[in-house]
Amino acid sequence: MPETRKFLDYYTSAEELGVGGFSTVRKAVNKATKQTYAVKTLDKSKNSPHSNDLALFRSEILVMAHILENIKEHPNVVRMVDVFDEPKQVNIVMELCKGGELFDRIIDKGSYTEKDAANLIRQVCTGLAAIHDIGVLHRDMKPENLLFETESDESNLKIMDFGLSHIQGSQDSMTGVFGSLDYIAPEALAFRHYCEASDVWAIGVILYILLCGYPPFFAEKPREKQASIMKGEYDFDDEVWEDVSDAAKGLIRDLLVVDHKQRMSAKQVLAHPWVQENSPVARATP
Ligand code: ADP
Ligand code: MG
Repeated sequence: MPETRKFLDYYTSAEELGVGGFSTVRKAVNKATKQTYAVKTLDKSKNSPHSNDLALFRSEILVMAHILENIKEHPNVVRMVDVFDEPKQVNIVMELCKGGELFDRIIDKGSYTEKDAANLIRQVCTGLAAIHDIGVLHRDMKPENLLFETESDESNLKIMDFGLSHIQGSQDSMTGVFGSLDYIAPEALAFRHYCEASDVWAIGVILYILLCGYPPFFAEKPREKQASIMKGEYDFDDEVWEDVSDAAKGLIRDLLVVDHKQRMSAKQVLAHPWVQENSPVARATP
């Protein structure tokens, strides 16, 4: 059935929040309720007939709809509110995260205390366990795709950007290796095998960055970086690691395991002693 409702009849769009590869994210105000949301827009006219951006955007919508249907509300997963698929544009209305990307906070802060890092990792793994439970692989876990709900230091952290996500068992229109090289797991890189454990590898990379401020695998040439990822070659040699606990390093070692079958699950991360000790109880959601 063709879409008859028009986005602009229901919402006023406002300032830009971010620009992605082929879409723009803006604030949007619901005309009736005056509530503010975020709206991710794909402009169909800007896409060549050969591009599959529209197909990717629709797959993002399918994933968010699957999450909405099966999880309803979750403090650590960004919720879709409405979709408008119009002749010239597709708009995904979702809840607004006012606190910005984890990426920008890491840059501002440099690195995190173990307590704060554990709190963030617990939140991300709670969200990740919830989507894994309903068969969703995120496939693009990185600090740019984790948003704070509010500007407060106590804010919830939410997983967003399901643009590369996959519902297990469904047909996958995408082939190849995708996501950012810094966060990609060895099995995805070598065999294009994306599984739940591949999302968890990225959690290991994120935790490493939170604690020291730089990524575990780095090299000037991508080929060299790929080689160190494949071997799981990283170290705790820099002096910043001298003040980091063995428990935190132990968790990183359990996450950055090259063999995905030996890697922890998101739920196992939640039960890890370092997480339990540093971030014992789920904070109440406001
Ligand atoms: P892309 O798929 O192109 O990477 P994203 O969905 O990641 O697009 O959105 C791009 C950027 O827009 C995000 O990194 C974030 O800064 C901003 N953004 C996206 N969704 C929201 C939201 N719900 N609330 C606030 N900002 C958002
Ligand atoms: Mg993104």
